[in-house]
Amino acid sequence: MSLQRTFTFCPSCGRNRFQSGSFKPWRCPDCGLEFFQNSATAAGALIFDERGRLLTIRRAKEPAKGKLGVPGGFLDAGETAEAGLQRETMEEVGLLLSDICYLGSFPNKYDYKGITYDTLDLFFTAQIAGSAAMKLSDEVTSVEWHDPMSFDLAELAFPSMVRAVERYRQNRSM
Ligand SMILES: [Zn+2]
Repeated sequence: MSLQRTFTFCPSCGRNRFQSGSFKPWRCPDCGLEFFQNSATAAGALIFDERGRLLTIRRAKEPAKGKLGVPGGFLDAGETAEAGLQRETMEEVGLLLSDICYLGSFPNKYDYKGITYDTLDLFFTAQIAGSAAMKLSDEVTSVEWHDPMSFDLAELAFPSMVRAVERYRQNRSM
């Protein structure tokens, strides 16, 4: 279900005429509440080792369980994209990043527990700082290294990840 359709009651006055939709802001005609609902922001990292291989993670949980992803996740309020990327990468694979460089942003749809969220995924390239040992969270089944220019993009969990790797490939071939 879309996020709009899950919100039919006004969170302020509780009446059921809350006008949520693709327009902004969502409004309540009874009490006048106005509510802005925008894309949830996430950050993802294309992390490369010293041989230029791309780090991918096999997803242990839904959504897209069993597919390949890259470290990353939703940003907290007040957090920079770079700090959120460091936090999520540390949580998921236990690595500290260096040389974080913006690659591009791509919209995505993220299904979680029956609700579809609109997201904006910000992607960065990065290197591994130091020689820390990897430590996988329970969200990650395994880590797999791939040639970023040739591995099968159909393995990736989300369209935004596919577009990020495509952008990386375009940049490399220019
Ligand atoms: Zn209301």
